[in-house]
Amino acid sequence: MTVPSSPQPAGAPGHEILHGIGVSAGTASGPAVQVRPAPGPDTSEPPTTDAQEASARVREALDAVATSLTERAGRASEHARPILEATAMMAKDPGLASGIDTQLKNGVGVTQAVHQAVEEYCVMFASLGGYMAERVTDLRDVGDRTICRLRGVPEPGVPELAEPSVLVAHDLAPAETATLTSQTVRGIVTAAGGPTSHTAILAAQLGIPAVVQVKGAMLIDAGTEIALDGGVGEVIVAPTKEEKEQLAERSRRRRAALAGSSGEGATRDGKKVALLANIGTADDAVSAAAQDLEGSGLFRTEFLFLERDQAPSLEEQTATYTRVFEAFGDRRVVVRTLDAGADKPLTFADLGEEENPALGRRGLRLGMIREDLLDTQIEALGAAYRATGGDVRVMAPMVATLDEAEYFAEKVRAAGLPKVGVMVEIPAAALRAEQMLSIVDFASIGTNDLSQYTMAADRMQGELAPLLDPWQPALLQLVRLTCEGGRATGKPVGVCGEAGGDPLLALVLVGLGVSSLSMAPGRVSAVRAALRLHDYSTCQQMAAYAVNAQTSVAAKEAVLALAHPNLIDLL
Ligand code: PEP
Ligand code: MG
Repeated sequence: MTVPSSPQPAGAPGHEILHGIGVSAGTASGPAVQVRPAPGPDTSEPPTTDAQEASARVREALDAVATSLTERAGRASEHARPILEATAMMAKDPGLASGIDTQLKNGVGVTQAVHQAVEEYCVMFASLGGYMAERVTDLRDVGDRTICRLRGVPEPGVPELAEPSVLVAHDLAPAETATLTSQTVRGIVTAAGGPTSHTAILAAQLGIPAVVQVKGAMLIDAGTEIALDGGVGEVIVAPTKEEKEQLAERSRRRRAALAGSSGEGATRDGKKVALLANIGTADDAVSAAAQDLEGSGLFRTEFLFLERDQAPSLEEQTATYTRVFEAFGDRRVVVRTLDAGADKPLTFADLGEEENPALGRRGLRLGMIREDLLDTQIEALGAAYRATGGDVRVMAPMVATLDEAEYFAEKVRAAGLPKVGVMVEIPAAALRAEQMLSIVDFASIGTNDLSQYTMAADRMQGELAPLLDPWQPALLQLVRLTCEGGRATGKPVGVCGEAGGDPLLALVLVGLGVSSLSMAPGRVSAVRAALRLHDYSTCQQMAAYAVNAQTSVAAKEAVLALAHPNLIDLL
């Protein structure tokens, strides 16, 4: 899509318009705050002559890092708290401190000693594979922070924000985003990242406008005013008065377009589309349930399991699921059983190193190996369902074969749960959708993973974003195939990947036959407003154009040409 952009006006020093991928809609402006890179060890420091004194200084720095991470954990969201707590624990690890002491006794300078000991530890962690290998990033984070303390410079990452600002970063790591709120962060601009990256999902969850894949982002000077439009993917450095007015006008039009959006999701001519929230925790459930939406289409239960030494007990799980079901009352809650492995490793279910974890024993595959985990979870879900009696539906992640669907359905039904489904995230499941849906009651398409596996492109690798674009006609064709399976069996098919929260693409998905869309709660009102502007037959026409397009760009352009003129205000 092309956006009107003004030529470089005279008298605007540093003025520049940068383009990227808009991943969280809305406009914002404010001073740029650069997320600081780590400075590394001091290469000109003197060698250590008094190892005891140096060791005391290092321990003091490690303690300070642990304390500050623990403090941040206390202020962090439920998602981020365990990550920060685990990182704080690493700073207290006696093994790390004694590794540093060994370096100091050999006369190595203090910051070099920290750096070398951390790197030795990293090699060891990496060789252990699995969960431990994933912790290498956290360990380096501890090392970087400790070195900054010793050098007397600010720690890397997001600084304390004195005023509402726009964060500019290469990419944001989970620990860096832990304490962000929409009150202090007006917008996010990153050089890396993609539409399904951590930054994108977090920004959408918090309702912060964001643009990723912005070339030149790291050259923006701290303190420079920047404005961004997270819908169209535009970043204006040192915006002119006219550009600021244009942006404010876009923002006003967006608010006006959203104003009448309330109630059930439906096209203009009344074809119903359930609009649902993606949640990860019981707190998410409580806050989403307070909003105008029809339930949850994806409860990512793995948040309850991550960063723990042991699986949560049956009682703890039952209590959490009960809280979630109670929060939504008689509205639907689609629970996804544990989706661990690959980017979501579990300490207590580490199956050892894998060459390609994304193609390894993850999702339901892990549940079939560690059947005890799956059985306990399903038992807890059954108990919570009996206690609350809500509209509970349970689905499995990463289902590839009919045997797997049968295995899972049998367990869920035996626990007395009323509805069982599969996620369609692997092309094999889409290709066999009709047969899958003969076994289960519903399917939910996870477009994030379905893109990754259709295009053989790692969803975490930002530079592959064009391949991962959910407008890729190949992906849409698999959505169509899944919906055909739904029609043939009379079973509903929903979408719960990030694609469902894009107001324009949502029209295409509905036209393809999807009957529910689940997304970050902050996206529901724009999707609802988009649906209300279009008849179902227009959505079907859009779907046909998009699937038959040559490229993702052509698909989007063709659909935009068919859209109501006011739709642009919702992007
Ligand atoms: C998906 O893959 O689209 C999905 C919704 O699951 P997750 O993003 O949690 O892998
Ligand atoms: Mg997935």
